[in-house]
Amino acid sequence: MNLNQPVTYIKGVSVARAELLFSELGIRTCNDLLHLFPFRYIDKTQFYTINQLQRNTSEVQIVGKITSVKTVKQKRGSRLVATFSDATGSIELVWFKGAKWIKDSLKGGVPYVIYGKLNWYNGVASMPHPEMELVSEYKKKLQTAMQPVYPSTEKLSNKGIGHKVMRSMVQNALQQTFESIEEVFSADFRNEHKLLHKKEAILNIHFPKSQELLAQAQYRLKFEELFFIQLQLLLKKLINKSKNKGFVFGQVGEIFTNFYNNHLPFDLTNAQKRVLKEIRKDVGSGAQMNRLLQGDVGSGKTIVALLVMLLAIDNGYQATIMAPTEILASQHYNGIAELLEGTDIKVDLLTGSTKVKKRREIHAGLEDGSLQILIGTHAILEDKVQFQNLGLAIIDEQHRFGVAQRRKLWEKTQNSIDKSSEEVGGAIPPHILVMTATPIPRTLAMSLYGDLDISAIDELPPGRKDVKTVHRYDSHRLGVFKFLKDEIEKGRQVYVVYPLIQESEAMDYKDLMDGYESIIREFPSPKYQISIVHGQMKPADKDYEMNRFVNGETQIMVATTVIEVGVNVPNASVMVIESAERFGLSQLHQLRGRVGRGAEQSYCILLSSYKLSSDSKTRLQTMVETTDGFKIAEVDLKLRGPGNIMGTQQSGVLNLKIADVVKDSPILFQARQSAMQLLNDDPNLSLEKNSLILKRLTSLRKTSGIWSDIS
Ligand code: ADP
Ligand code: MG
Repeated sequence: MNLNQPVTYIKGVSVARAELLFSELGIRTCNDLLHLFPFRYIDKTQFYTINQLQRNTSEVQIVGKITSVKTVKQKRGSRLVATFSDATGSIELVWFKGAKWIKDSLKGGVPYVIYGKLNWYNGVASMPHPEMELVSEYKKKLQTAMQPVYPSTEKLSNKGIGHKVMRSMVQNALQQTFESIEEVFSADFRNEHKLLHKKEAILNIHFPKSQELLAQAQYRLKFEELFFIQLQLLLKKLINKSKNKGFVFGQVGEIFTNFYNNHLPFDLTNAQKRVLKEIRKDVGSGAQMNRLLQGDVGSGKTIVALLVMLLAIDNGYQATIMAPTEILASQHYNGIAELLEGTDIKVDLLTGSTKVKKRREIHAGLEDGSLQILIGTHAILEDKVQFQNLGLAIIDEQHRFGVAQRRKLWEKTQNSIDKSSEEVGGAIPPHILVMTATPIPRTLAMSLYGDLDISAIDELPPGRKDVKTVHRYDSHRLGVFKFLKDEIEKGRQVYVVYPLIQESEAMDYKDLMDGYESIIREFPSPKYQISIVHGQMKPADKDYEMNRFVNGETQIMVATTVIEVGVNVPNASVMVIESAERFGLSQLHQLRGRVGRGAEQSYCILLSSYKLSSDSKTRLQTMVETTDGFKIAEVDLKLRGPGNIMGTQQSGVLNLKIADVVKDSPILFQARQSAMQLLNDDPNLSLEKNSLILKRLTSLRKTSGIWSDIS
């Protein structure tokens, strides 16, 4: 039977059930159903004794005897409670329904096998509505080792598709389609990588014959899933490199050399030098660069960006930096304009609030090539903005921009879209450098940005002191205020940040305003000047307040998380985060990155209530223990899972059925390794032995998001 036929072909799947399977689980074909993998197994091979029971064991199987039975009156009706004991202890069995009938059927003094979920109350375990069988009966039956439990929804179980029904549908699907299950790896490949045959794997993932076979089936299917993702990403990278010709920045010219020798205000760190080398290799190769530059806040990405832009200009090209907010774009502009003082390089700023006259000037300068560097926001993406000769586009803080926008930058330059040209492949896109301060763990980066090359600045400029981080409870707020006064006395500035979480926006706003009021009371004018910035303000007002703080006119900045990204106020030395337990780790880390930018010792104070979930505790503790962005990212990934890390939603790469990029990272590395080896030996997959892989890949190209921006 054809695997692509709708599930209604399977015995036991009515049209109504098929509709539910689709609306609830997205299952349309037999193949989809075979690839609905169990998320756990009921292992009825194992028996527990009562003293082995733990809070986190979900379903358990126990042998014991009923020692007493009582009926307990409750508000409505009554419940039946039986004491069930083995040699090591006892638990309670509870029935809320059918008490009368069950009471009559229970036998005292004879051994039962019971099975069910445990509830814990005051340290006592009870099992509501257990499955029960007399040991004498149990022994007569053949026991299947492990039963699959499938993902389900409330609606499914309400409509009668419970675990048992699901199990039987999958079983029927297996029986009807088993012979049609297609292998995607050759026997040699399977031998080399110790992989089960696909049929064996599918069979044992649903109905494992043993723990050993289950483990092998899981390995095989995870490997396959990760292998094809890596293969696609690597291929895309290869295609980008061979198809997308790139401008060659072949020479280090006068502009770069002059700047490097006479204007660079500090020595580059080794990490900055290494990254620069990696980038120079890319831009000299003749292929388009697509590189991700990771570097913690304050690691000095800007100077690297500037040096690469100078290289572009030296070779006759223009360059641009795009940032997610006006404030960030202005800061880049100010910083870069300052660095370029005393050189002849023309740089300008384009944002949503650039006046029309200025805008026209910029457009003209870009088109005639006299404006060499443009810094700006999304405004750069507007159609009217055309460059004469854009050779390099840098995107700061990647996660705020989507893949589509990255793509749009490719088409910004007149020399690349030669509309009169019939020649295929005549268009040359600019080199793309994406900069992010949100470190992405290696495993995730490999899946998410597997088609980009990755560089990391993993070293901070010298003399930087770690931000001292402490966790304090709300009741210590007065002590914290005292500390702030001391710091302000020394001439420093201070941030106080409040959470803003969409679901409770009104309440958060109130918290912010209450906080603001109390800070005004504690820090009276005119001695203290306070800025406030939040999301409900007009952009112009926000900028005004922000600028007062940047210019040192105010000592305290009270804000919601709008200050999260990028602002640079080296004189600010304290970051107070209110309700810190409500922030995510990467957000906390980003916020902390706002201080510690100057030479002074800086501090981060995390304020929280006493009531903390265990995840919140871990987050706060991690912040206190380390300032290493990569370590923090790893913890974050473990806490939240890959689906919630910034930027992953847009990727589609992480819609994994069985593998988990965090837990299965060893398999991920192996899969990537063998995909690389395969492409090395047979770049076009034209060898007969790779024909199955090619076939699978071809069908993936039609459905997988990975190919979306390749024509
Ligand atoms: P980010 O990576 O967060 O964008 P920036 O580029 O803004 O970091 O750099 C942070 C600060 O460190 C800036 O004030 C910059 O001038 C300074 N800086 C960058 N590189 C070095 C270096 N090699 N030595 C000393 N200071 C540096
Ligand atoms: Mg930056």
